[in-house]
Amino acid sequence: MEKDNNKEEAKEKNKDKPMGKLPKAPKFSIYWVYGIIAVVFLAMQFYSTSNSPEKINWQIFANRMLAKHHVQKIVVVNKEYAEIYIKQDSMKTDTIYKSLTEKGLGNISNLGPHFLLEFITVEEFTKDLNDAQNKILAKDTVGKTPEEKENIIANDFIPIAPAIRKDWTADLFWTILPIALIIGVWVLIMRRMGGGGGGAGQIFNFGKSKASLYDKNTSVTTTFENVAGLEEAKVEVMEIVDFLKNPKKYTDLGGKIPRGALLVGPPGTGKTLLAKAVAGEAQVPFFSMSGSDFVEMFVGVGASRVRDLFKQAKEKAPCIIFIDEIDAIGRARGKNAMTGGNDERENTLNQLLTEMDGFTANVGVIILAATNRADVLDRALLRPGRFDRQIHVELPDLEERKAIFAVHLKPLKYELESIKIDFLAKQTPGFSGADIANICNESALIAARKNKTSIEKQDFLDAIDRIIGGLEKRNKIISVKEKKTIAYHESGHAAVSWMLKYAHPLIKVTIVPRGKALGAAWYLPEERQITTKEQLLDEMCATLGGRAAEEVFFNEISTGALNDLERVSKQAYSMVAFFGLNDKLGNISYYDSSGQNEYSFSKPYSEHTAEVIDQEVSLLISTAYNRAKQILIDNKENVHTLAEKLLTNEVIFREDLELIFGSRPVDFNTEQENKDLNSTLVENIPLS
Ligand code: ADP
Repeated sequence: MEKDNNKEEAKEKNKDKPMGKLPKAPKFSIYWVYGIIAVVFLAMQFYSTSNSPEKINWQIFANRMLAKHHVQKIVVVNKEYAEIYIKQDSMKTDTIYKSLTEKGLGNISNLGPHFLLEFITVEEFTKDLNDAQNKILAKDTVGKTPEEKENIIANDFIPIAPAIRKDWTADLFWTILPIALIIGVWVLIMRRMGGGGGGAGQIFNFGKSKASLYDKNTSVTTTFENVAGLEEAKVEVMEIVDFLKNPKKYTDLGGKIPRGALLVGPPGTGKTLLAKAVAGEAQVPFFSMSGSDFVEMFVGVGASRVRDLFKQAKEKAPCIIFIDEIDAIGRARGKNAMTGGNDERENTLNQLLTEMDGFTANVGVIILAATNRADVLDRALLRPGRFDRQIHVELPDLEERKAIFAVHLKPLKYELESIKIDFLAKQTPGFSGADIANICNESALIAARKNKTSIEKQDFLDAIDRIIGGLEKRNKIISVKEKKTIAYHESGHAAVSWMLKYAHPLIKVTIVPRGKALGAAWYLPEERQITTKEQLLDEMCATLGGRAAEEVFFNEISTGALNDLERVSKQAYSMVAFFGLNDKLGNISYYDSSGQNEYSFSKPYSEHTAEVIDQEVSLLISTAYNRAKQILIDNKENVHTLAEKLLTNEVIFREDLELIFGSRPVDFNTEQENKDLNSTLVENIPLS
């Protein structure tokens, strides 16, 4: 019983551990071993140098040691230097050694070598030594009998003892160095591939999931308050959190808890933000990972990471797993060799499918995933039982944009009276949450650049312009002729759109280069969900107005219309082949929303149909072009005046057009246009 209690206690303790990652035991680190080796190595070096004999020069050696018969032995090491051994008796009796010792030159307690003598070449040293000894012996043997002479020479002549010694520390160093280098490089590569961080143990962590874990102890500050708009999506994800917290409420009625939910929507609409808010709000552990984190250059790693992720998640259940950009692994699997299956990715996906809906029950684990390409996902992934729910996160509408502005304006210092959230939201149709966050940040930077103490309305407008059109490039070198062409091109757009009922309402026209564009006409697109054939035709006509103006006024066309033509061609093709807006082809659409035919070589229609499509597309475009040309010819004078004004002023507004062309018929103006008249760029003409 006692033991069990302890177990429970330990479990409780573990539960309360802070949880950036799983609780860790103090780890043995290989760096300690490196450290110890280095210290030993240094200590040995130090010891060997501090104990080495003192160096002496030839004079001291010859006159004070050799001449006085103190030298016992001379060892020449590696033909590099000589070690001098002094007789023990001499060391004790002779005062020169005492004084030398006091000076730190000798070492009595040592049995030798006591001194070192360096020389240039061993031959020279041998010769000098022999000469010196011969001299000394000659002196000693004066007046001695030949027998005595021989004895003295035999006893007193000190031969050189050669010795070859290896410096094993250096040898060891050079042996170890290449191996250490190879291991070092290997560890480095492995660590890079393992995603960095951690010790050398990372090498063995390939198959481990790289998900970061958040729970009540890790501070995730994002809450649902930070997510503006997206009310329906919020309700759905909140419900998911509720499933985990009170599963009984649902299971009592016989319902099953959903396995997963997929957040689908264009980039920057707040999918990741929503997931972060779930992490912040839910009182359950939250594993976050990106689809690409599963993929590695080694086969089998992805699948093993999926397994590990689910294993960890099950241990922490109830919990949520969030996989961002799931299309990185969830793409539809190839059907044949031609479509080129990526085995490793498919293995990873298969493992994910099995984990989500395998024999093993994932009780209390809910998977949230985000993607902006739901169309390319494998259908097996989307079936009920895996991602039961798809939560669509769309681009924000007017009201939602207001709410997003409110969130992102909060930390900014701005003039309260001059900036109305309503106004800003109207300026930004088609903008995503991320764009709006960017505008707010950019406006602060623009205001700071102008040394303002608070952000003004114009800074916001400049920020919007900058984000849509890129940086203003007033210093771009453009010749007078080119400038004239650009002015007429832009005037063409402005004039044609002014004269067409369904063209987007114009706001301003500029010939100041910005980003890649050399000039631009800015419109405020209507917020609409469906577009009629007439609207599309008018839009195409307005887009072609630029090139038409070049032809009408200069009888010479340029490359400046590339962007216009690309857009018009795509639009015309979509009208004919996708939207069924062509009489000859009828109500047929070759659009493939599943993305399955993306890589197939054959078209879903016959050669004859292909020809008809081409003919109809080119007919649509030429009709729109001729219409634009006719409008410009009919209003030649006015367009001329407009272009000249644009050349002098560089920017002209709607009011200027009204002065020249007279006001638009009331029924031309859309509801929104009447409400608001300011800036948003829809079209530009890159001349790159
Ligand atoms: P994605 O849909 O591509 O995952 P994110 O969630 O990463 O987009 O959004 C990027 C940024 O845009 C967020 O960090 C946030 O600042 C801003 N954002 C997007 N949508 C919203 C929203 N609904 N409310 C507030 N901010 C938002």
